[in-house]
Amino acid sequence: MAKGLVYKSTGSWYVLQDEAGRFWNARMKGAFKLDGITSTNPLAVGDEVDFALENEGESSVMITRIHDRRNYINRQSPRHKHQHHIVAANVDQSLLLATLRDPRTSTGFIDRFLVASEMYHVPALVVFNKIDLYREKDLAYLEVVKAVYEDVGYTVVAISLKTGAGVEEVNALLQGKTTLISGHSGVGKSSFINAVVPNSTIKTRDVSGWSGKGQHTTTFAEMYDLPGGGRIIDTPGMREFGLVEVTREELSGYFPEMRQRLNDCQFNNCLHINEPGCAIKQAVIDGEIDEDRYVSYYNILESLPEQKWKG
Ligand code: GDP
Ligand code: ZN
Repeated sequence: MAKGLVYKSTGSWYVLQDEAGRFWNARMKGAFKLDGITSTNPLAVGDEVDFALENEGESSVMITRIHDRRNYINRQSPRHKHQHHIVAANVDQSLLLATLRDPRTSTGFIDRFLVASEMYHVPALVVFNKIDLYREKDLAYLEVVKAVYEDVGYTVVAISLKTGAGVEEVNALLQGKTTLISGHSGVGKSSFINAVVPNSTIKTRDVSGWSGKGQHTTTFAEMYDLPGGGRIIDTPGMREFGLVEVTREELSGYFPEMRQRLNDCQFNNCLHINEPGCAIKQAVIDGEIDEDRYVSYYNILESLPEQKWKG
């Protein structure tokens, strides 16, 4: 019996790293139910497991136990609304790669990502890439959004993967932590992973003699070790986290600048739209809450179902 960490999960087979740093192909037998939830994939990247050798001399092993998770990130299954797909477990922080050029990331997209990170209680970093392409007005706008997000409590870094500017700063923020990376296509996510993960790390991962080799695995989450300690988790194909479990009443609790003012609203079920005595709307009027953040709040609220029945 040994302990391992899941570095790759396809839903039917897994790649584990043991405590000595050796990689194994692994399978799981039987049904596992974890934390009382049923998920389309019981095991995710970042999970800690116990495993046993299936047969002497083979590189494939059997997972016998899943350890309790500190947290996990999920998203709605695209086909089954009520099924969740666990994307990653035991994550220390999330990183959104964004850009103001080629193609511009909307603040609405950034705010949805930040709300999801709040829901999972995962600290969030926003990294603006491609600053080499920014014109003067983009750079001025970058300073504005940076100030807005930093005031709320998020870390913002500006980088260029082309010139290398700011990359050291991001590297320092990744050290010793497990970071989930997301970003819409074209922002430079592949370039980012290539910049922070040495080629050799990716190569040593290919466990030989595995029957699953050659399968299309590009849409599965994968974890990589960083040279200075720490890990990153790449989630190809995941445009954004699903805001799966949020209700309309809870939403403002996931905006830190709103959360701290909720007790000041006249009604405790205030949705901060047209209610009298709303402290949130007053704070927007007074310039204490950024207007674009409020617009994002409103747009997300509108996208949520009217009512969610519990039980
Ligand atoms: P992904 O779709 O997020 O994985 O993005 P890629 O890493 O494939 O990058 C998309 C395109 O943006 C490629 O043509 C990259 O060369 C380019 N790119 C990535 N980072 C930068 C950057 O900092 N500056 C510039 N000018 N181009 C970049
Ligand atoms: Zn209110």
